[in-house]
Amino acid sequence: PKTAYVRTKPHLNIGTMGHVDHGKTTLTAAITKVLADRGTGSFVPFDRIDRAPEEAARGITINIAHVEYETDTRHYAHVDMPGHADYVKNMVTGAAQLDGAILVVSALDGIMPQTAEHVLLARQVGVDHIVVALNKADAGDEELIDLVELEVRDLLTEHGYGGDAAPVVRVSGLKALEGDPRWTRAVEALLDAVDTYVPVPERYLEAPFLLPVENVLTITGRGTVVTGAVERGTVRVGDRVDVLGAGLASVVTGLETFGKPMTEAQAGDNVALLLRGVPRDAVRRGQVVAAPGSVTPRRRFSARVYVLSTREGGRTTPLSTGYRPQFYIRTADVVGDVDLGGITVARPGDTVDVTVELGHEVALETGLGFAMREGGRTVGAGTVTAVL
Ligand code: GDP
Ligand code: MG
Repeated sequence: PKTAYVRTKPHLNIGTMGHVDHGKTTLTAAITKVLADRGTGSFVPFDRIDRAPEEAARGITINIAHVEYETDTRHYAHVDMPGHADYVKNMVTGAAQLDGAILVVSALDGIMPQTAEHVLLARQVGVDHIVVALNKADAGDEELIDLVELEVRDLLTEHGYGGDAAPVVRVSGLKALEGDPRWTRAVEALLDAVDTYVPVPERYLEAPFLLPVENVLTITGRGTVVTGAVERGTVRVGDRVDVLGAGLASVVTGLETFGKPMTEAQAGDNVALLLRGVPRDAVRRGQVVAAPGSVTPRRRFSARVYVLSTREGGRTTPLSTGYRPQFYIRTADVVGDVDLGGITVARPGDTVDVTVELGHEVALETGLGFAMREGGRTVGAGTVTAVL
């Protein structure tokens, strides 16, 4: 029998973000190495993080690696986002649950377009705390690294992160991975910064249970399993749930986190739920598993949307009523019609109030954040102001 998960420390979800090739995956592997050497985790080599199994869901390739580790004071689930063209979507869906992020910036290259875009998206999906890893410090010139640090602090401030107060730690993922003592200490300093700077978030444990479905799998002989991070509430084996979007009611017959059985999962936990009597084909990424009767899926909502400026990678031309981008809402990816109401056009850089009609029903509520995408890039970021 597998060992049960024992909750001894607060659990937080964090992740690495930043421009491709700045060293996110190397640093993630290095963190697991440093903690494995301390005896509070197991080493996950670069290849196992970088080659996380790809899932084709509705024609979209998703690829997010989850790694688990513990510091002296906390239990972390760490996501490493891939660097391919549609990484933003993974970040929007995967980062929605992030309690904090490690922004990886190569000290050799400084801020690059994806660095800025990730900070913007982090703000949009509600990540309130960012710790900066100035990576590749082994190869950089001190004075240049000082400049990069100033540049990163400015970027954070520009996006409302208080760049002066944010911890900026100079690290070398590569050297720490090789066991170099100086850079091992640097990674430890980075983890200390995460432990102290990222607060344990307030969990909505009293709210009705809700889990946005990230993946669906079948366990032969046992049934259909959905995975994802619990957004709010708690769930126990034996609880009744609705699978919204599938129009099904079910019962949770098994619960696991990182391969360990648990009796109760709570907000913030990354879990797998075994669902009774649910056909594999009925459930998809983007649907929501929730306490019975607690959420109603809807198609229409009003929202306030920030249309990304061209400089931020957004559109070069204005948009008008009838525009049909993809909406990324929690883990869902759905087309929607935009109505600007009385306004003729919305230009890149504008903030506008819109009405949206989605292609199909999604669990919606006031305050929910989303991204608007088109042709593989993010063109807007918004918040639901009313469900219609
Ligand atoms: P990612 O795309 O952000 O995940 O970046 P990777 O972790 O795949 O690293 C990109 C490249 O940078 C690889 O060739 C790494 O070996 C190299 N690299 C990563 N971290 C460091 C570092 O701390 N120092 C140096 N010199 N190179 C690094
Ligand atoms: Mg990578």
